[in-house]
Formats: sequence, structure tokens, C-alpha cells
Amino acid sequence: LARSRYCRVCHEFHDLTEAWPSACYGHFGIRGEEARFYVISDSMDPIVSMATGRPHDSKSAYRKELRALGCYEVGNDRLDRRPVQAPPVRDTLRQVVQQLKG
Ligand SMILES: [Zn+2]
Repeated sequence: LARSRYCRVCHEFHDLTEAWPSACYGHFGIRGEEARFYVISDSMDPIVSMATGRPHDSKSAYRKELRALGCYEVGNDRLDRRPVQAPPVRDTLRQVVQQLKG
């Protein structure tokens, strides 16, 4: 499977094994020669939203869409591990045993 990344400039997928097209540097919010600094990026490898099936490579746009849908992301969240109450089966088992005996 070829590694590719969605481009916000031309809205195509670019092969990551090749140089990013200079015409599409705007994807990173930079213009050509200014490509020196990298802070925390808003971009990510494209993911498909579980909520809409639409592809995203912008974290903020993805989260904005999730909020609009009333959804939220989970990651390292602590899960509620209270045991689930088992349904009462004792009486049912007793009935079945009686039926089999009868
Ligand atoms: Zn492009």
C-alpha cells in the first residue's frame, strides 16, 4: 500500500515517497523557501471520520465536525470498569431442571 497524504492545496493525494510538490507547499502554511520552522502541526495523516465517513487531515477541522455532531474523541480516557450486573439465571435454571426431570 503506497503511503500518500491528502493535500489541502490541490485536494489530491500525494505519494509520500516523492518530494511534496512545491506548488502545494501551502498545505503546510508555508511558501517555498520559508520552510524552516515547524511548530505543532494541525495536519495529520489522513483519517476517515467514524462519524461521517469523510476523510480528514486537519485536526481542528475534524474536531470541529465532531463537536457539531455532538461526538467526541476518545484516546487514553479512563474507562468506567464497574462490573455489569449479571442477569438472574438461578430461577430459570431451576425451572429447566424441573422440566427435564418431569
Ligand atoms: Zn497538492
